[in-house]
Amino acid sequence: MLESADIESADVEKKRLLIPHEINTLLGEYVVGQEHAKKILSVAVYNHFKRVGVALESGADDALINKSNILLVGPTGSGKTLLAETLARILDVPFAIADATSLTEAGYVGDNVEIILHKLLQKCDFDIKAAEKGIVYIDEIDKIAKPRAGKSIVRDVSGEGVQQALLKLIEGTIASVPSNGGHKDPQQKFLHVDTTNILFILGGAFDGLEKIISQRSKKSSIGFRANIAGASTRDTLTEIYQHVKHEDIMKFGIIPELAGRIPIIATLGELDEEALVHIQTEPKNAIIKQYTQLFAEEGCEIEFPKETLREVARQAIETGTGARGLRTIWEKALLDTMYDLPSKEGAYKIIVDKSVISDGASPTIIRSRGLLTGTDKNKNGSDKDGNKK
Ligand code: ADP
Repeated sequence: MLESADIESADVEKKRLLIPHEINTLLGEYVVGQEHAKKILSVAVYNHFKRVGVALESGADDALINKSNILLVGPTGSGKTLLAETLARILDVPFAIADATSLTEAGYVGDNVEIILHKLLQKCDFDIKAAEKGIVYIDEIDKIAKPRAGKSIVRDVSGEGVQQALLKLIEGTIASVPSNGGHKDPQQKFLHVDTTNILFILGGAFDGLEKIISQRSKKSSIGFRANIAGASTRDTLTEIYQHVKHEDIMKFGIIPELAGRIPIIATLGELDEEALVHIQTEPKNAIIKQYTQLFAEEGCEIEFPKETLREVARQAIETGTGARGLRTIWEKALLDTMYDLPSKEGAYKIIVDKSVISDGASPTIIRSRGLLTGTDKNKNGSDKDGNKK
């Protein structure tokens, strides 16, 4: 098995193409579960950068290998943005996020699609060459679907127009990006950005897509083990989504030209209790690691029993916001403690019992004697023997 430290040091020594297994291992440091999506992304990204490398080496404008733009389909808080963001981090390329619902087609009030490239340029101090190899994540792509037959007509003039505008960027064009980000200014300059080698990752929850997939499967008599009548359960939904095809997203309201430019579709499942417990503790920047560090800065030790983590996971599932709900629950639960603690003398051990989450109780706070004390730990974070933490 590849150790991530080896990969990182190898990568620093000479900037080389990471192979799919390496990409997957590094993604795993931040993203819990979603193994299928991680595998698809690892291969897609490897091929993308291989393609970029070949195109740059040969100087060919029309690379033989097709561009691998990616669509991530999965419920809110399942890790779509995190995956895209983590990819950009491990590949060390500029990264920008845009929300499809804030974009408009040219001539309407709102952000023209070129704003996305402006964001990317901002991330790399307007180094156009770097931006041209970046990654762009466009969220909520399902919200700019064309209204479907049988759906009540919401007045949505821009959805299809935005898809058309995005199409150009995604397939590769020389885009003119207003240097000031699009504020009306007759004097403004335009920067020209070639989007041919920018990797576009689109994401959306696609609520209701399961019905389209199931109908198709019934017609073609493929059938799933899962049965749509009982599709309210998480596993069933996840299984149905895994059968998604381009024709389904077109039926959902993505125009065929755009669907055709996103050859790869990866689905993410809803995170279960087990995964939500892991997310709190395991990733490099896990929330519990962050709180442990924050309280250590105050000279305090904090303990999070497993059953507390489970209770937080359960509540996050109830709110329906996936892993996104975890931080909100924690911030609320620890607010008073974080407010009061800096005013207290000495050091404490804090135990966050399950009742803190389930009943809004206060954490158990024990004064530490002989453990860590305020004077044992001086301000620069050394203990009484001068050892760095
Ligand atoms: P989405 O884009 O699918 O709505 P995000 O990627 O924005 O969800 O997730 C919100 C937050 O929840 C992330 O910043 C991360 O802290 C956490 N999170 C979500 N999914 C995962 C996952 N699979 N592994 C680790 N953390 C996750």
